[in-house]
Amino acid sequence: MELLLSLHDISYAYHNLKGEIPALSHISFEVSQGEFLAIVGPSGCGKSTLLSIIAGLLTPEEGDLFYRGQYVTDCGVGSVMKIGYMLQRDHLFEWRTILQNVLLGPELNHTLDQESRDYVLQLLKDYDLYAFKDKKPSELSGGMRQRAALIRTMAVHPDLFLLDEPFSALDSQTRLNVSADIAQIIRGTDKTAILITHDLSEAITLADRVLVLSKRPACVKCEMPIRFAVDRSDPLQIRGTAEYQLYFNHLWEVLTNEQSDVPTG
Ligand code: ADP
Ligand code: MG
Repeated sequence: MELLLSLHDISYAYHNLKGEIPALSHISFEVSQGEFLAIVGPSGCGKSTLLSIIAGLLTPEEGDLFYRGQYVTDCGVGSVMKIGYMLQRDHLFEWRTILQNVLLGPELNHTLDQESRDYVLQLLKDYDLYAFKDKKPSELSGGMRQRAALIRTMAVHPDLFLLDEPFSALDSQTRLNVSADIAQIIRGTDKTAILITHDLSEAITLADRVLVLSKRPACVKCEMPIRFAVDRSDPLQIRGTAEYQLYFNHLWEVLTNEQSDVPTG
């Protein structure tokens, strides 16, 4: 797979009146084109900070960020590729219908035309939301809202998905299905994704590779490629395999050495 992003020795600290809060310490890793990378780590270790640096919302104090070998440290990869950012809360606007919500990106970019409208309508059909396109967000279930949030993210054709615990607000049953759906959708498009999660099961079930971060200030504790002999679309089947158990046990050990509160799943 072709190399897309490289992070070299990235460090970052927040500064406030009480002093310095180191968040990231000498982080290095690479992401290939089309890869689905999951990053797990204890709560508060610096995961969201890391995504913000990749996106260019924060500038690292030390270290370099490269996009296809090109130096982009100060402005983040947002300057060279389209990023789709998805957060824990779906941030749908209640005064807009689902259709108006998912068309927000093209509207703000002044690219709203028949083609973008048709694309979004097709996505709504593909993800079983077409019948709800004229409803308000509050009329939908949590899982449906999260799918709508994904469609809104996809409507601007991002090359890179940055997913910051996007399933955390869902109950565990919904979460399993919605996360598998969303991973399948992203895989189907051959886009690249970086998923932050504190749920080890989710990371193993969805990702091509899992990166474990230490407690704050985060450094990379371990990197593990994930391969399954069976099809990835059924999360329950994945979780029943022997490979899954091996991955889980190994990563669990690395993680529990890092935190007092155990990961979910
Ligand atoms: P995570 O996403 O892994 O839970 P974050 O990247 O959000 O962690 O935060 C890492 C650490 O930095 C946390 O301890 C948090 O309290 C601190 N932090 C985050 N944002 C700020 C900020 N704007 N100012 C000061 N400290 C911050
Ligand atoms: Mg976070």
